[in-house]
Amino acid sequence: MPELTDQIAFQQRPTWDEYFMLLTKLAAMRSTCLAFPVGAVIVKDKQVLATGYNGSPSGSVHCTTQGYCYPNLISCDASKEFPSRAVHAEANAIAQAAKHGISTDGASIYVTLEPCISCLKLVVSAGIREVYYETTFNKGNNAALCQSFVDEGLVKLKQIQVSASVLQRANLFLNSPTSELRLFPQN
Ligand SMILES: [Zn+2]
Ligand SMILES: [Zn+2]
Repeated sequence: MPELTDQIAFQQRPTWDEYFMLLTKLAAMRSTCLAFPVGAVIVKDKQVLATGYNGSPSGSVHCTTQGYCYPNLISCDASKEFPSRAVHAEANAIAQAAKHGISTDGASIYVTLEPCISCLKLVVSAGIREVYYETTFNKGNNAALCQSFVDEGLVKLKQIQVSASVLQRANLFLNSPTSELRLFPQN
């Protein structure tokens, strides 16, 4: 008899939103900044156009390699004195699209963290119309400015979560050789 987890593996197929958010969570694993990891995936017509994660500019030493973002500072975001040396995940994904000549007009972006004001402005100007994020970030005046862009009809902002059952299935896929999972007959 199949274990319960195997039954879940058979039954829980991610929605498109969950699929792209799972890819986004994987992209975040590539983060090279000691601030919180963030992933971004730009999608259009159910196709991935570009991906990104937060870290130092291309070619510059990684925060994780040197062991700090600035001397005595563990995080790029921990100081008011030093500007952040990190490029945010959304900016990196948009830069990757630009570098490879891929239009982002009319696309959507999935991010593990709600875009900061700078990234949201960049997203809007890149023609990206929908933002799906996992965790909220903006507060106070920044949240109000975000909302003003939404109210102007420039961008749609929506918080989404991957369901517990799909995450359970993802764990199963990640923790085992994926293509050996259907060993048991389906009920
Ligand atoms: Zn850093
Ligand atoms: Zn940002």
